[in-house]
Amino acid sequence: MALIVQKYGGTSVGTLDRIRNVAARLKRTRDAGNQVVAVVSAMSGVTDGLIKMARDLTANPSERELDVLLATGEQQSIALVTMALQHMGVDAVSITGGQAGIFTTGSHTRGRILNMDPSLMRQFLEEGKMLVVAGFQGISPKGMIHTLGRGGSDLTAIAVAAALKADVCQILTDVDGVYTCDPRIVPNARKLPEISYDEMLEMASSGSKVMQSRSVEFAKKFGVVFEVRSSLNDNPGTLVLEEHPNMENVVIRGVSIERSQARVTITGIPDEPGMSGRILGALGEAEINLDMIISNIAHDGFARHSFTMPSSDLGKAQAALKPVIAALGSDAKVETEGGVAKLSAVGIGMRSHCGVAATMFKALGAAGINIGMISTSEIKIAVTVDETRIEDAARVVHNAFGLDKPPA
Ligand code: ASP
Ligand code: MG
Repeated sequence: MALIVQKYGGTSVGTLDRIRNVAARLKRTRDAGNQVVAVVSAMSGVTDGLIKMARDLTANPSERELDVLLATGEQQSIALVTMALQHMGVDAVSITGGQAGIFTTGSHTRGRILNMDPSLMRQFLEEGKMLVVAGFQGISPKGMIHTLGRGGSDLTAIAVAAALKADVCQILTDVDGVYTCDPRIVPNARKLPEISYDEMLEMASSGSKVMQSRSVEFAKKFGVVFEVRSSLNDNPGTLVLEEHPNMENVVIRGVSIERSQARVTITGIPDEPGMSGRILGALGEAEINLDMIISNIAHDGFARHSFTMPSSDLGKAQAALKPVIAALGSDAKVETEGGVAKLSAVGIGMRSHCGVAATMFKALGAAGINIGMISTSEIKIAVTVDETRIEDAARVVHNAFGLDKPPA
């Protein structure tokens, strides 16, 4: 008998009919002879609706109370899924994050998992019950309700699978798996049979939002192999796991895009120690998340910095930079540009293959797409292009690496 953890996201439990569908799937999995633990999210839109109510009441709702409020979304779904299961004759029981022994730390609304005590879950499983666990929540050392950040039900599922040493962990969602690129943009994108944790993390941080990144990090840390698959059909999905030697044969695993970026360039920075710290420090204090950061060797005693950020942060960035730039002297200037998008090609294979960046740049050049900034990591090459060309760019790069065909 295998122990299977299945996580269902908000869309999968978004209506009563979908809840019935989830219950039927869970029952089928159990009838096939498995022990089953379900982890569920709030019905789609519920968490957003609760946040909106709080913000309509007050501009600055207390984070402790937000946790108390938001955790109710998942409690609704676990009770409803359990009732649907019981109606089908399944002996099921719902439990909250705290009851599942998910102990957290950190500030309210941004909880991190400290440790797990799965004894109550074990006890119920030994009694032959199916478990329906509330995602996205745990309990703080003081016994307070604590949520795990947006998308945190993924983290709950991975943590529960780790604590119970589950044989299988499945993230059931409204997509069929992880694709070589978004199929709405690249019609011949292919579902990947497998992807490494590191590639999945790079794809997520470059705009492919299939799963909460922290949950992938957690899975890597505890060696939890999991599968991303559809809750609406029985097709095999994508296995996410530690890399193995065969995976390096593929140069690029996938291409992801991120729209609505802005570029900021600061010129005339005196070539002295401490300047980068001052500039980036001001942006950090304003809680602006910078993405690409590029600096050139100083010329004529002046350096220049460019970085990208979400367009929505541009106003905040300009305000934060104003006093710093003024203090740098009269040569310092800020230039901004919106309407930028980022394209990233990700693959652990690029560590052992040459000419990968050249292939990508040549393909973009041949398509007449101008590259703005370039940045690389060990397993990623990212460029900015004009936002109006990003979909063409994704198709061109996807083709250049033959991603529509399965690797030989
Ligand atoms: N309901 C929470 C959210 O919307 C957690 C989740 O769905 O994973 O972020
Ligand atoms: Mg989600």
